[in-house]
Formats: sequence, structure tokens, C-alpha cells
Amino acid sequence: MSEIALPKIDSSILNRKSEIVKKLSKLTNIENVLSEADELRPYETDALSVYTQTPLAVVLPENTEEVSEILKYCHSENIKVVPRGAGTGLSGGALPLQDAILLGLGKFNKILEIDYENKCVVTQPGVTNLGITHAVQHKGFYYAPDPSSQLACSIGGNVAENSGGVHSLKYGTTTNNILGVQMVMMDGTICRFGGKSFDQEGYDLMGLICGSEGLLGVVTEVTVKILRTPEVVRAALIGFPSIKEGGDAASEIISSGIVPAGMEIMDKALIEATDNFSKAGYPIALVLNLAIVRKKDFHSGLEEKQLFQRVELWHLITIVWMVPFQEASLLKHY
Ligand SMILES: Cc1cc2nc3c(=O)[nH]c(=O)nc-3n(C[C@H](O)[C@H](O)[C@H](O)COP(=O)(O)OP(=O)(O)OC[C@H]3O[C@@H](n4cnc5c(N)ncnc54)[C@H](O)[C@@H]3O)c2cc1C
Repeated sequence: MSEIALPKIDSSILNRKSEIVKKLSKLTNIENVLSEADELRPYETDALSVYTQTPLAVVLPENTEEVSEILKYCHSENIKVVPRGAGTGLSGGALPLQDAILLGLGKFNKILEIDYENKCVVTQPGVTNLGITHAVQHKGFYYAPDPSSQLACSIGGNVAENSGGVHSLKYGTTTNNILGVQMVMMDGTICRFGGKSFDQEGYDLMGLICGSEGLLGVVTEVTVKILRTPEVVRAALIGFPSIKEGGDAASEIISSGIVPAGMEIMDKALIEATDNFSKAGYPIALVLNLAIVRKKDFHSGLEEKQLFQRVELWHLITIVWMVPFQEASLLKHY
């Protein structure tokens, strides 16, 4: 693996550490500024843990005004700032720099408004992806993008990385599911982009912000779309004799007009590895390869019937299960 070339360290900033920490402690509660070695250790890497760097200091602001003051100060003093959500990024975006402040959004952990009428949620960026669904599911809603890290990753990090998951097939990634953000630019200016609906006044910069990896500014509020939970949720697990036939079947499903909420293919090696761990009882002996179709959103029995008709046409399938999605983990009982 080739090494990431990290920026050259500015030793003049390192020499001013105590002065910088003192100033930061005036811009937020003193307890929100971490500068001792043992306090900084938990922040020295993200999920790309092959790289580690101890930041100059970590600051954990509590509101947008504090973020603005911190960025204004750092901008005027030429001090670099690295924003950090939950630190689950795999591309080293939240990797600290020795001569930079790590700005953690962990205290921005509140959902500010749930607007069922406009089908949106206004949230602080430190709320987890899954936390949004948890807040609205009792009313029959959910937030569609589902990175595998959704239990831990923050919605601010999702915006910065334009994250997606299995549901991206039908619902797109974060950029297709957010309506507005509040962002503090690197010079401390507080801006709003978008709002609660599409086609807000002003330039449409959401596509630029989403995926900007913390380089344009710090997101301090996000408005996300929420969707109605489908009336029926089903999962199908389909076995194929080869990975090619599994792939062809996936293309055929989509081109026939059935767009599942998600589809995943596992090859033989992965089936074996997964089955060894989960003991799900996948049909390893029967098939060489296996396609798992996780299909949410059968709004009527029609799509399900269509899918079964296709399945019959393929002739190649050795095994098919259709089970309620929630029971997919119980496949071995079928
Ligand atoms: C086990 C595992 C599974 C994963 N699965 C997926 C997956 O299925 N799909 C996927 O897309 N990703 C996946 N990821 C990657 C990661 O979870 C996502 O990129 C996620 O969006 C990062 O969120 P975070 O809060 O951890 O951000 P961090 O890692 O803290 O930061 C990521 C980037 O966002 C910036 N940032 C964070 N918060 C803000 C903010 N408020 N304002 C501005 N910039 C900010 C940081 O500077 C950095 O550049 C996975 C990671 C793991 C460890």
C-alpha cells in the first residue's frame, strides 16, 4: 500500500501550543478543550487506523456560535482544523494533524425538530444515522441511507462523505436524501443552504457540500428527508450456480422494472466465511454462488409475484426463500 503524504508540519504552531489552548478555552467551556497526551490518544486515528497522528488539541464545541468563534480564531492565526464526527471514516478524513485542531462534533447530539407534515427531520450533525430512524419509526417513518456503520456513524460525517448503503440502489446516497444544512465556513461565517423542501431560493450548492469531506466548512445542522416505512417488507435469498448467473439475474430484475430497496451478491468464499460465523445455514453444498436479494417495499403482492415468475424463468436457481425481512436471520429454519 502506498503511503498517504501528510502535509508538512508547521513547527511555529507546535511552539505556540499553550497559547492556542488557552485561547480555545476562552471560546468554549474549558472542559471542552483537550490537550494532555492521554486525553488526545482516543482521537489519534479514525477507522483508517493504519495512520495515527496526535492532534495539537481537541476541541468539542457545544453550539454553532462556538464553532464559528473557533474557526474565526484558527483562520486568523493560520491554524488548520480537522472536523470529526464519529471517526468511522475509512478514508482518513478525520485523521488529525500534529499542527492542527481536531474539532469534534460529539456534543451536537440532539434532534432539533421532527416535521411529519413535511416529511423531514432537522438534526444536529453528531446524531447517529440510525438515531434518526429510531426517532421516527414509531410513527411509521425511516431515514433511507444505511451505511453498514449506521449504528455509530454521524449524520454530519454522512454528509461530508456522501455515504450510502444497500438502500442506495433505490433511494440514492446521502446527497439524494438531505434537504438543507447549516454550515460554518472555515473563516467562521455561518451559512444556510437549502431548507425543508426542494428548490429553495439561492444557488443550489447542496451537491457541492455533500461529499466535501470536511474541507469546505463544518456542518452544524442537517435537514434530512424521511420516508414512510413500506407496508410490507420481504427478503429473498436466491441460490445460483455461478456468480455470473447471479449478476445477470440482478440486472434482469432491475431492467424488468422491479427495483428492490437493495440487492447484494455474495460469492462462494464469502458465503463460507459468513456461514462459518453466523451459522445461518446457507446452502453451501447446493450452490456455488448465492445472490441475496433484500427487497423492501413490496407495496402490493404484484411485485412479489413478478419476482417469483422471473425466478421460475431462470431455471438455474437451486433454492429460493421468501421470508419476512425481520426474520431473514432465521433462514436456517426454512
Ligand atoms: C464497519 C464500517 C462499515 C462502513 N460501511 C459503510 C457503508 O456501507 N457505506 C459508506 O458510505 N461508508 C461506510 N463506512 C465509512 C463511514 O462510516 C462513513 O464514511 C461515515 O459517513 C463516516 O461518518 P463519521 O461520523 O464516522 O465521520 P468521520 O469519520 O468522523 O469523518 C469523516 C469525514 O467527514 C468529515 N466530517 C465529519 N463530521 C463533519 C461535520 N459535522 N462537518 C463537516 N465535516 C465533517 C471529517 O472531517 C472527515 O473528512 C463504514 C465504516 C466502517 C468502520
